[in-house]
Amino acid sequence: MIKKTIVLFALVFGSITSLVLIAHGLRPINGLGGITSTDKIAVWAVTVVLLIYYLSLEERPQLAPSMLAIEKENNRAQDKPAVTFEDVAGLEEIKEELQETIDFLLNPEKYRRMGAKIPKGILFHGPPGTGKTLLAKAVAGETNAGFLYASGSEFVEKYVGVGAKRVRTLFERAKKEAPCIVFIDEIDAIGTKRNMDSNNEKDQTLNQLLVELDGFNTPDTVIVIGATNRLDLLDEALLRPGRFDRHIYIGNPNLLAREKILTVHTKNKPMDKNTDIKAFARKTTGLSGAQLANIANEAAIIAVRNNKSYISAHELDAAIERVVAGLEMKNPNVLLKEKRTVAFHEAGHALASKLLGTEVVQKISIIPRGQALGYVLKYPEEDRYLMTRKELENRIITLLAGRAAEEVVFNEVTTGAKDDLTKATDIARAMVCNYGMSSLGTLALDEVYIRYNYDTIRLEIKSITDRAYREAIRLIEDNMHILNIIADRLLEKESIDSQELDMIFKEKSKSEDYAI
Ligand code: ATP
Repeated sequence: MIKKTIVLFALVFGSITSLVLIAHGLRPINGLGGITSTDKIAVWAVTVVLLIYYLSLEERPQLAPSMLAIEKENNRAQDKPAVTFEDVAGLEEIKEELQETIDFLLNPEKYRRMGAKIPKGILFHGPPGTGKTLLAKAVAGETNAGFLYASGSEFVEKYVGVGAKRVRTLFERAKKEAPCIVFIDEIDAIGTKRNMDSNNEKDQTLNQLLVELDGFNTPDTVIVIGATNRLDLLDEALLRPGRFDRHIYIGNPNLLAREKILTVHTKNKPMDKNTDIKAFARKTTGLSGAQLANIANEAAIIAVRNNKSYISAHELDAAIERVVAGLEMKNPNVLLKEKRTVAFHEAGHALASKLLGTEVVQKISIIPRGQALGYVLKYPEEDRYLMTRKELENRIITLLAGRAAEEVVFNEVTTGAKDDLTKATDIARAMVCNYGMSSLGTLALDEVYIRYNYDTIRLEIKSITDRAYREAIRLIEDNMHILNIIADRLLEKESIDSQELDMIFKEKSKSEDYAI
């Protein structure tokens, strides 16, 4: 910038001098008599050189990033994955569903002779970490086909046309590598619904993807697998027959699948023979395959740290805590007053959970982990697919029981309930808007209705959470003697496990009754 300003200044000076010299040639100016023709030519030449140099400094239009970069990107994952269906635990029905695709990749002629058009676009959808990428790789591994990986976000560019070009390059490469699987992760990054104020670049990229999917009636054996966590966001055009018309939902694993995933990921690790993997599958309800793989790995790391020669239940428990609750804070500087608040808050959750039977309490702790000063580790007794209104209400009561304990014991509330309030409100909101469980009636409300009628909806949500909070206060007040024991024990030992909690309840049930 400075260089450009100096050159411009010199150019302006040179231009004025040149004009003065031209004027002097037409009508001699006093004081310039000594100027020779050579001087004039020199000034003009310098001015012209300065002009050319200045123009060369003018900002060139920015070019789109090199296409070579993306070609290299695509080279990255073209290798044939060593993963097979054996490495994918659980998901049996999905593997079965994919058998036809595998057969097509292995015996394309069989289908062509029959004039059959095989669905070439498969869409995996579901929560993160459930094995979508792993499964796509396994399809390639089972058929010895190439595997081209691309993430939707790699196609998102501000330069018009770059994303589309990248899509073209990817598919050209796929045709060269056939038979092969093109896997587009996070396809929602380019495939969201188009609307009036759509972004031109994104539309072009999506259009190019549609064109490539349509243009697959070639002899090339290429299967495109897309993956997304948000099927609802995808453009209809992408989902219509002939494109991504096979939708396969991959959810979090059930009990049996969790056991299989934990078995796969502990297979090559030295395990204590007495470790009951099924018990750990039970403790990990709601976790994804990726989290389970992480637990197995964390357990191995903890075993090394503890100088153990094998992984036992103790390491697995510690790994679950690490993955679910976060990293333990070393030497936390928590005031005693705050520790007391946390102890009663967590005791409140555990008490309500136990009394209402919402979930099995595995551990209560006031050792800070992640962003939490304390936590209750709990899991449902069994996998649940349906929840009753009562069960949802009990969950809200359990979530609000931490704050209720603070209010009853200290007559004051703290910021510690932030996360609980968010979760309780989310459940109440779903009860009102999705499950038809409020006085608004048995209907599901769409986003537009919710936006324009939020005041009415908020009152319904508030009525559910207020009722739950009153119930939480009642539970705490009626069972103060147990709450005090749990909180005192926490302040003394920092954590209580399920057996100890059971003992507290058993003793109390012998001496004084506890009230539900
Ligand atoms: P995202 O939606 O975030 O991209 P994803 O569904 O593609 O996630 P993967 O990347 O396939 O998830 O899974 C991550 C890791 O979790 C895998 O590499 C594997 O170690 C483990 N995993 C997930 N599901 C399974 C499973 N069913 N069997 C064995 N391992 C699994």
